[in-house]
Amino acid sequence: MDMPKTGQDWQTLRKEMESRGAGDAKWRDGKTAVYIFNAGPEIARVQHEAYTLYMSENGLGPLAFPSLAQMEREVIEMALSILHGPEGAAGSMTSGGTDSITMAIKAARDFARVHKGLEGPGNFVLPQSAHPAFDKGAHLMDIEVRRIPVKTDGSYEADPEAMGKACDEETVMMIGSAPNFPHGIIDPIEALGKVAEAKDVWLHTDACVGGYFAPFARMNGVAVPPFDFEVSAVKSISADLHKYGYAAKGASTVLFRNAELYDFMPFDTQNWSGAPMKTPTLAGTRPGGAIAAAWAVMNVLGVEGYCEKQGLVCKTRERAEAGLKKLGFEILGNPVLGLIAFRHPMHDSFKLYSEMYRKGWFTSITIDPPSLHLMLSPKHAEVIDLYLSDLKESCAIVAAGEEGEKVEARYN
Ligand SMILES: *Cc1c(COP(=O)(O)O)cnc(C)c1O
Repeated sequence: MDMPKTGQDWQTLRKEMESRGAGDAKWRDGKTAVYIFNAGPEIARVQHEAYTLYMSENGLGPLAFPSLAQMEREVIEMALSILHGPEGAAGSMTSGGTDSITMAIKAARDFARVHKGLEGPGNFVLPQSAHPAFDKGAHLMDIEVRRIPVKTDGSYEADPEAMGKACDEETVMMIGSAPNFPHGIIDPIEALGKVAEAKDVWLHTDACVGGYFAPFARMNGVAVPPFDFEVSAVKSISADLHKYGYAAKGASTVLFRNAELYDFMPFDTQNWSGAPMKTPTLAGTRPGGAIAAAWAVMNVLGVEGYCEKQGLVCKTRERAEAGLKKLGFEILGNPVLGLIAFRHPMHDSFKLYSEMYRKGWFTSITIDPPSLHLMLSPKHAEVIDLYLSDLKESCAIVAAGEEGEKVEARYN
């Protein structure tokens, strides 16, 4: 497409944009259980209005926009207040989980250079179930990635002993997830902490998908094991606001146990032609809208609002588990938040996935072991029964050998 020579009428373009969305995943009906966190129309309105209010402002300039600097500070304080941040803990907002993780790796690597005499590229040790963002960050910094199989006892948890054995002098970081994405399982962060302390290694908790969920689930009475700064070995945490924080996309947090660790993150550039520029994270320009929308949603919901939303998600997951078990499915491990993976002893998971896709469901899958996957939102309370009845039909279709073509499940 060439750029139009003459500008086009916005109202016409707007209609065209709306009609282009018609072929997208049907997330507004609740039939999407990946990519989207649907907390309902009220929260969507807050996101929209708060984002628009600060859409043009730039988080790169705290002196020009003290409003944004204050909102970011308060977002970080609120985050630390629910994640057992000790006195002096610090953090920044980033554009997303990958950004938060990359910055935590950078800080840990630079810490190791200064305090542990690291000269080579270093390595880090993480469970097989940890997110690909770690590979991306490692590749950027030439760090070696050591993925260690999860436990084979059916828990799908990280294996602290095996991970400890994989550490050496060059290890800059150990990682546990709370929870991991493929199985929705919270790794044994306390046990990983013991190993990390014995080996004198920085422990990072990847709470990208659980950081704004697990604390509220615990307040609701769910048995959530310690995973945040409550565990003394945890030096940094990544927690995404644009997931179960229900903020507009482009908002995450990266948090450090103290200011000394945090100080390994920012870039301070003095030797160029322009004015001195110190940026806390990877980004230069930072969207004011994403900061503002996160601040607004956190304040609109408050602790009680989050407890209510996450309570609804947990209840929906329990309903899903009960229905799935009735259909003969096995739930992988013991998920306690909003993500589950499950498989049927008789039916090929990916054949089932394909039938569900044809019925309009857009979800994720887990490869190891081959399973179906759901990441639930408050909206799913309304459609989980439909999901289960569609799945029952899909099982019958697959059992009869009448399934259609396999749909390939991937992220790209
Ligand atoms: C989503 C996710 C990430 C990456 O976050 P993005 O915002 O997609 O970059 C990292 N870790 C876990 C466990 C996640 O669920």
